[in-house]
Amino acid sequence: MMKAVIDAETCIGCGLCEQLAPDVFKMEEDKAVVAIADDIPEDQLTDAQSGAEQCPVTCITIS
Ligand code: SF4
Repeated sequence: MMKAVIDAETCIGCGLCEQLAPDVFKMEEDKAVVAIADDIPEDQLTDAQSGAEQCPVTCITIS
């Protein structure tokens, strides 16, 4: 199973990950955070991976 981690130092707060996977990522103040502490549900994994791939500063790791 896969979990998402965001490097908050690198995140520029663009909001794209939340747009692509609102069940997995959410904006808090001016940074994105992972909304799911546990494994990403199978049906949200593709959206989460899109967010990680399209993050402009590639600060999302899914592993
Ligand atoms: S896409 Fe990347 S830079 Fe933009 S809010 Fe999400 S984690 Fe931060």
